[in-house]
Amino acid sequence: VYHNGHLATGFGINSVGKIPLGLKRKGLRILVTGGAGFVGSHLVDRLMSRGDSVIVVDNLFTGRKENVMHHFGNPRFELIRHDVVEPLLLEVDQIYHLACPASPVHYKHNPTNVVGTLNMLGLAKRVGARFLLTSTSEVYGDPLQHPQVETYWGNVNPIGVRSCYDEGKRTAETLTMDYHRGASVEVRIARIFNTYGPRMCIDDGRVVSNFVAQALRKEPLTVYGDGKQTRSFQFVSDLVEGLIRLMEGEHVGPFNLGNPGEFTMLELAKVVQDTIDSSAKIEFRPNTEDDPHKRKPDITKAKEKLGWEPKVSLREGLPMMVSDFRQRIFGDHVENGG
Ligand code: NAD
Ligand code: UDP
Ligand code: UDP
Repeated sequence: VYHNGHLATGFGINSVGKIPLGLKRKGLRILVTGGAGFVGSHLVDRLMSRGDSVIVVDNLFTGRKENVMHHFGNPRFELIRHDVVEPLLLEVDQIYHLACPASPVHYKHNPTNVVGTLNMLGLAKRVGARFLLTSTSEVYGDPLQHPQVETYWGNVNPIGVRSCYDEGKRTAETLTMDYHRGASVEVRIARIFNTYGPRMCIDDGRVVSNFVAQALRKEPLTVYGDGKQTRSFQFVSDLVEGLIRLMEGEHVGPFNLGNPGEFTMLELAKVVQDTIDSSAKIEFRPNTEDDPHKRKPDITKAKEKLGWEPKVSLREGLPMMVSDFRQRIFGDHVENGG
């Protein structure tokens, strides 16, 4: 289905955006910050395949060169190792701003969301580029409204262990809207819900990657708390489609981009058992502080304004991630086993 985690769920060149199919379109110069990461690298694949020139800026903190290596040697592709907390001068038409340590084990004590976003907005202002921020469902905190609609302001603890991420992204949204209103920068805001797929970090502690790696390694699946908390899991190709539609469309947002299919962590463990190893054991562990009890996107707005909705269910998407993880954990010599 994919090579080097490259999804073959292909979308036609120019299938979205203002340029009609079939017409020659001048390639854009597109900056993808965090483009060597999980989501970013899949986005880069799509942009490269439709003929654009892509500059990836990444400090390789959680991203990996391997995720974009298949573009090395292509004159339309460039990888710059750079921390977006430092200013950066480039000339581009669009900026997809993804750079951010996105997992709880990585994101603490990091000014990327605020300073990095400010720099990229400054860059967008100087060169007149359109700027897309990848915000998060975490801006809703431990939500008191269910499912979450974009108009909900959220329930976030400003001084907790997750605040650096939640409040960092909330500040990033504020900066984005201020540059939009104050400096007329064209902006787009996506609020991304839990996303999984090939190339996800194996050991960054997120639940889908943990369960899949644990099941493959014949270790028990670690369920935190009572396992009744819920999340809604989106396959990465659906997210990339949504991000491109948002960038090319006319609406600022914010837009929820997520799959409304909601699962408890125990239900997720069951899907992983069914997909990988029905004898996998479950081990309960204490939950982390301020863990949101439930999360599910209301995607009415994205459906109406972007004509977007996810297509890949958890049971369809998980196997595509499993074969990538199997290869990375056991190496190429293991073809079908594990
Ligand atoms: P990821 O960790 O795989 O990718 C983030 C990338 O940013 C990595 O390649 C990392 O090296 C890079 N980076 C981090 N700090 C940087 C810095 N200071 N300068 C330059 N590069 C830096 O995570 P991902 O899941 O691909 O997330 C991408 C974006 O989507 C993030 O902004 C994240 O907040 C957002 N998001 C993701 C999810 C999800 O479930 N994956 C959910 C909500 C929001
Ligand atoms: N910036 C950048 N690249 C650019 C333009 C600006 O990294 O091409 C940074 C700049 O260093 C500053 C931030 O973006 O820290 C905000 O820039 P802006 O011009 O909006 O603010 P100012 O410099 O006027 O305070
Ligand atoms: N979780 C779990 N086992 C793990 C890792 C996470 O049960 O090995 C739980 C975690 O407590 C949370 C949910 O899974 O309730 C989602 O966690 P993740 O870090 O993947 O995403 P986020 O909390 O940022 O939505």
